[in-house]
Amino acid sequence: MTLLKKHICVIGAGPAGLRVTKDLIEMGHTVSCFEKMPKLGGVFLKTYDNMRFVSSSLLSAWSDYSDGQEHSPTYWTADEYISYCEKFAEKYDLLKHIYFCHQIEEIRKNVDTGKWVVTVQEVIPDTKYKRCIKATDKALALLRFSLQFDAIAVCSGANSQPVTPIFKGQHIFKGEFIHSNDYLNPSRFEGNRVLIVGSGESAADIMNEVSKVALKTAIVIRGKHGHIIPRYQGNSNSVTDLNTNRCRYSNSYIFGDTIGYVTQWFKYIISKWNFRKKDISANKIIAKIAELNMEQKTSAFSKYGCKSSGFVEAIILRDAEMFRSEFELVENGALFKDGKSFECDTVIVCTGYKSAFPFFDKYHPEISHAGMNPRLNYKQIFNIQYPKEIVFIGFVRPAFGSTTAIIELQSRLFSYVMSNKTQLPSIEEQQLDIINDTIEWSSRFKYDTNRINSIVDYQLYCDSLAKIMGVMPNLTELFFMNPYLWSKIMFGPLTTHQYKLRRIIFLDSEINEATKIIIRQPYGNFLESIITASFLVFGSSWRFLLHLVCRLDPS
Ligand SMILES: Cc1cc2nc3c(=O)[nH]c(=O)nc-3n(C[C@H](O)[C@H](O)[C@H](O)COP(=O)(O)OP(=O)(O)OC[C@H]3O[C@@H](n4cnc5c(N)ncnc54)[C@H](O)[C@@H]3O)c2cc1C
Repeated sequence: MTLLKKHICVIGAGPAGLRVTKDLIEMGHTVSCFEKMPKLGGVFLKTYDNMRFVSSSLLSAWSDYSDGQEHSPTYWTADEYISYCEKFAEKYDLLKHIYFCHQIEEIRKNVDTGKWVVTVQEVIPDTKYKRCIKATDKALALLRFSLQFDAIAVCSGANSQPVTPIFKGQHIFKGEFIHSNDYLNPSRFEGNRVLIVGSGESAADIMNEVSKVALKTAIVIRGKHGHIIPRYQGNSNSVTDLNTNRCRYSNSYIFGDTIGYVTQWFKYIISKWNFRKKDISANKIIAKIAELNMEQKTSAFSKYGCKSSGFVEAIILRDAEMFRSEFELVENGALFKDGKSFECDTVIVCTGYKSAFPFFDKYHPEISHAGMNPRLNYKQIFNIQYPKEIVFIGFVRPAFGSTTAIIELQSRLFSYVMSNKTQLPSIEEQQLDIINDTIEWSSRFKYDTNRINSIVDYQLYCDSLAKIMGVMPNLTELFFMNPYLWSKIMFGPLTTHQYKLRRIIFLDSEINEATKIIIRQPYGNFLESIITASFLVFGSSWRFLLHLVCRLDPS
């Protein structure tokens, strides 16, 4: 099929914008990527000083740029990840397509030409963030201009606006009230009494560091907290997302919470047993995490992950308190529904972010609406009204796994579609898929779906994009032809290299590189693998038996 070269506007040069720029250029299109900040890094330019990734370097890296350290994965700091993006841009010579300090202001479809008219404003470099300082000595003319494009890739990030709920009694509260977005480090909370609101990773990490300097710290969790799987396994240096693998996530959803419970129970028993040995605190933390997870009966199959054990560490090691109820603020603290109270001078709310698309608001509010409700787009990517012209990349939140890995697959799919390498289904089929996907994700993640309207299961979602592109690994063939590679794929981390093994689609050099990297990745935890494999074998045998007896479709 012939390639019709397209001229594409990419909004934002965070991980998604960078990735999309690379993939489209590689396919022969022309790209102008506009970024309002003065350098690469996206949201990680603004995050708190000691921010560390919650997905390991294995899952956060892209399949075409390796740090060469797959045998000993770690969790990157924000600075390390920014440096990864910079080296990626350098390797693929992408900077010449990116215009920093350029903000997209307005987008309008020209009905006569069919093109998208994009208004761009040069902006003064943002000096608020220390990670930008070195990049801010540019002289700018602050021009405002318009350009025309065939298609728009919206990569402006899902963290545009902090969500700050108004709490009962907030106007009476005499202390300081801040959102985690404005939190940089704990130094100014020294000697304070601090209440943290939220139960995600930011809340856990911030609570951990604040509790080291504050007089008193507490966390309030309304409803269920994120299912806690700390960054490292037990007391080891082994990253836990080695267990984000096909063996675990190929299990039926109905077994999910049972698998979660059994795994946590084993961890609880082992850590209690280990109390008698050295490193008592570490084992107490593991036991407490298991207790909390078992108490709320959730798992990685049904609840978003909290991959930081920070708040549990603060509770065990520094006597921080935990409250699990609704609350109202009073002059000098918080009153909880169950009658308890906590006196504080600072409240830090870690209540997340939402996306916003002000550049569509004036002329295309319906596109802006679809952006804010990602499930309205096909595969949470393609705008149903203009599927080959407007796409949203990076607006998916996996319960576990990593967003950056998902971004690679979304971007690959978009570049295939733009280059006619992959055809999208008809609009009617897309609409049906949208309905089915919405039902699937809403029922799986019933605790979170109202608050996190983009949540998906990492493996199911990645596989669904891979199936559209025809790049699913052939597991049966691998089992017989290369059982070692197969075992790494089943029991090692699910990274995007797995979608680069199909012979007809990829060059031998690409397949060899992907294979080499998969082989370098360590296996997941032995106990967890045994538990998840047992359920998988049990579930598959039952489905096979049912198929034989009732002649049901085993899928
Ligand atoms: C504290 C924190 C920790 C996280 N940890 C992880 C992790 O461990 N693993 C993981 O996979 N994900 C993590 N995430 C999720 C993270 O947001 C995504 O992985 C990643 O940032 C997505 O990249 P993006 O390019 O879609 O968005 P962003 O990184 O937000 O980048 C969007 C870019 O668009 C630019 N932009 C926006 N509007 C305009 C405009 N009008 N004109 C021009 N430019 C514009 C912004 O300036 C920004 O640079 C974390 C998020 C936070 C907040």
